[in-house]
Amino acid sequence: MSEPSSPPVPAAPEPVTLPIASSTRVFPVRRVYCVGRNYVSHIREMAEADERDDPFFFQKPRDAVVRGATVVPYPPATNDFEYEGELVVAIGVGGSAIPVQEADKHVFGLAAGIDLTRRDLQVEARQRAWPWEMGKSFDASAPVGAITPVSGLHEVKDGELRLTVNGVERQKSALSLMIWSPAEIVSRLSRQYRLEPGDLVMTGTPAGVGALAPGDAIHLEITGLEPLDITIGTTRD
Ligand code: MN
Repeated sequence: MSEPSSPPVPAAPEPVTLPIASSTRVFPVRRVYCVGRNYVSHIREMAEADERDDPFFFQKPRDAVVRGATVVPYPPATNDFEYEGELVVAIGVGGSAIPVQEADKHVFGLAAGIDLTRRDLQVEARQRAWPWEMGKSFDASAPVGAITPVSGLHEVKDGELRLTVNGVERQKSALSLMIWSPAEIVSRLSRQYRLEPGDLVMTGTPAGVGALAPGDAIHLEITGLEPLDITIGTTRD
């Protein structure tokens, strides 16, 4: 009796990597964590929650990460596709229950990133007490720029985030206005998950989020880091 034919075994997925500024080496991405609310200005514009709530976390799939200087497709299933400019912390040394004062030892570098959001689906999920996944964790939802290695989180403490769409300024905030500092975020996240090298943490967005249209060009700059540019694709499903 002949063996039943079986379908071909799929090849392993490609690793996801990000460029490292001033280096030919690349940063291997393991997981992408995001902070839900971290600037009072954004909580107020979303008319959300208590401003003193603990930070909460969600994830995007590793393969949602896309590099800068690329076209990001306008995603399906939404009529309110929005940008959120964010500082991204790249973990270089793993650990769990990391004290705030030791967070620096676990950080490899920093980058500019955009938490792309299907806002209509996120809001519906919030209202129905469903997971945020459909609004946050879709394909190509995490553009991240080149990672700049740092000696510690102090290097960006006094920095500023500025995002433009088609050259018009939409978001501008001091990073010091975060409710939870990057070190506090690393510490708190590491009490819920063991952090490992390659993890990225998107640290939340300030006020000024807004809808994108096909063809829009987004530019995000954070003091001392490589800027991130993406363009939204011109076709929709
Ligand atoms: Mn966000």
